[in-house]
Amino acid sequence: MASLFEKSITEIKGIGEKKAELFNKLGLKSVGDLIKFYPRTYLDWSKLTDVDKAENGEIVTIKATIDTQFRETRVKGGKLLIKGTASDDTGTVRLTFFNNKFISKLLKFGETYIFRGRITGGYGLPEMTSPEFLPEEKLLSVQPIYKLTEGLNQRAVSAAVKEALKMLPEEIRDPIPDEIRKKYKLCHLSYALNSIHFPKSLEEADIARNRLVFEELMVLRLALHRLRGKVKSENLHKMEKDYSAEFESLLPFSLTNAQKRTIAEAVKDMQGAYTMNRLVQGDVGSGKTAVAVSLSYTAIKNGGQIAFMAPTEILANQHYESITKLLTGTGIEAVLLTGSLTPAEKKKVYAKIESGEAKFIVGTHAVISEKVVYNNLSLVITDEQHRFGVNQRSALAGKGKSPHTLVMSATPIPRTLAIIVYGDLDISILDELPPGRQKIDTFVIDSKKRKRAFNFIKNNIDEGRQAYVVCPYIEDSEIESEVMSLEKYMGILEPEFENYKIGVLHGKMKKQEKDEVMEKFSRGELDILAATTVVEVGVDVPNATIMMIENAENYGLSQLHQLRGRVGRGKHKSSCILVSDTDNETSQERLKAIAGTTDGFKIAEYDLKMRGPGDFFGERQSGLPQIKTASLMENVNILHDAQQAADEIIAVDPCLLEAKHRMLKAAAISLFRSNGTMLL
Ligand code: ADP
Ligand code: MG
Repeated sequence: MASLFEKSITEIKGIGEKKAELFNKLGLKSVGDLIKFYPRTYLDWSKLTDVDKAENGEIVTIKATIDTQFRETRVKGGKLLIKGTASDDTGTVRLTFFNNKFISKLLKFGETYIFRGRITGGYGLPEMTSPEFLPEEKLLSVQPIYKLTEGLNQRAVSAAVKEALKMLPEEIRDPIPDEIRKKYKLCHLSYALNSIHFPKSLEEADIARNRLVFEELMVLRLALHRLRGKVKSENLHKMEKDYSAEFESLLPFSLTNAQKRTIAEAVKDMQGAYTMNRLVQGDVGSGKTAVAVSLSYTAIKNGGQIAFMAPTEILANQHYESITKLLTGTGIEAVLLTGSLTPAEKKKVYAKIESGEAKFIVGTHAVISEKVVYNNLSLVITDEQHRFGVNQRSALAGKGKSPHTLVMSATPIPRTLAIIVYGDLDISILDELPPGRQKIDTFVIDSKKRKRAFNFIKNNIDEGRQAYVVCPYIEDSEIESEVMSLEKYMGILEPEFENYKIGVLHGKMKKQEKDEVMEKFSRGELDILAATTVVEVGVDVPNATIMMIENAENYGLSQLHQLRGRVGRGKHKSSCILVSDTDNETSQERLKAIAGTTDGFKIAEYDLKMRGPGDFFGERQSGLPQIKTASLMENVNILHDAQQAADEIIAVDPCLLEAKHRMLKAAAISLFRSNGTMLL
């Protein structure tokens, strides 16, 4: 089969250079490409409707015999109108075609055909205008429908596919080993390839599709496994005792059930035979830090050191503060290690870390700098992991002797997708917010109401609050005409808020400048922060109560949700204002969806459905290969099976060295070849 990808499409009967160009437009260059060009959907011709049961307006398939000679008339504008009738045992249908002088040759008096089309009223008789038709004996009960390009019709594509399938070797080897195919009740590749294109029934198409999706997901799983080279390692930091109850008793609040469950799951890992490797997913505000600190408390009480890494200096500072607060009364002190410490300060911190005097080290990537030598690093926690690359994470884990790792993410990823993307990380989900959270009101407005929104912001500021205003891009040149750029937008904002203090924050500023502006806003010295999406991650200014987002239709829903999560963090009522003039229905629906729910997981699923996994992760987390056939949202059952099957293979043959796994190995390797490396 592999060699068919090297055979040009022009080797197919009936495809010359000209036609090949059309196929190229569909991305089809080789015979193999064509075989893998699966139908987009199918037309089921097998369900016939009796003419007298055909409802007006319905698309139906009927089997009827031509019972009049076709009459051709010219109508106004020179159009050729061809009319005739066909009947089955139950009734007669009028047939109308336009500008096709071959109709009377194609549809012969007294012969029976299958017609498919929409039934319209007509006078007395039901009517079909330009129906598709097939001779009775040629009845394909299920017709594949392919994606087309101009110049290629369904007939041409399916004829080419048929020829391509004939070029398959008689005995195709199936990459899925026999025993797995048997166990998971999968059909053979050869059957799958033929049946996905030309099934005899929709059920047969399903069987074929399942087999192909299964392989795709299994290969993805194997590829991710290879990429990470993850083998469970022995637990070198067994936590003898669980101190989480003791920690909770020191807190001013009680933990949510979700927090308790997550802590228990992680402690169990750290007490088990293998090193912990766990992802904690929790919506904005679900209390991930308390979970992290509880686990750290247990780890420290068991004699270890903790490294807690945040992606930016701002976040590291904020974490340091909130961790210090949570550690009040525990007798444990956190130290902060970031790039902006003076050399003398750094030296002091390094010494404390090496001697083991510092137990809880919070910082940026400075915590993995070569100069840091840990005394007994037992737990590594990374926050907002999607901002880190795989190298940084493994560098951190490489710092100690196989420390446990906990990854915290506020980007809610639907579980199905998380399983794939994070491979064999175990997952805990914080699906519960601490009690008494303010609900954030979300409004969708058009730009005509912007003035009113500004007044609303002023009222809030006058009461002592602060606001974020977010625009998509920085410079005019990067944007489409109707998109507000931050620069242009300042031209509106500044005169409007003359008497207020506005700070500007965008990704092209120097890190130090960014930090300064953020610090000022955090200290309440600025009323408004006009920013691009750099404020998206983790920033915590409880006094900010308004998040206004311009051109809201330009963002992914999860991103909007993250932005909205910047407000509603204090005791004051908070609002999110989405400004959009879009008249695109889908965009409007998406904005309505986000206004209607504050559940990050629901939003993420919605986003994923609408935009697919590639877009979902955006540039931030690229590396997920394009999966052709499988829909991660719709194939949950196959996903589980495929994953289990992959794990069974890995368990006995982790490097895929056995002959029967050779084809799977090749597929896994080629999957990531064009993608570079994964972030995780
Ligand atoms: P996130 O999951 O977004 O990182 P944080 O850990 O920053 O959330 O927690 C948000 C706020 O909620 C913090 O001020 C924290 O002290 C508080 N918090 C966490 N857990 C609870 C709880 N169980 N009850 C009340 N407040 C909590
Ligand atoms: Mg957080």
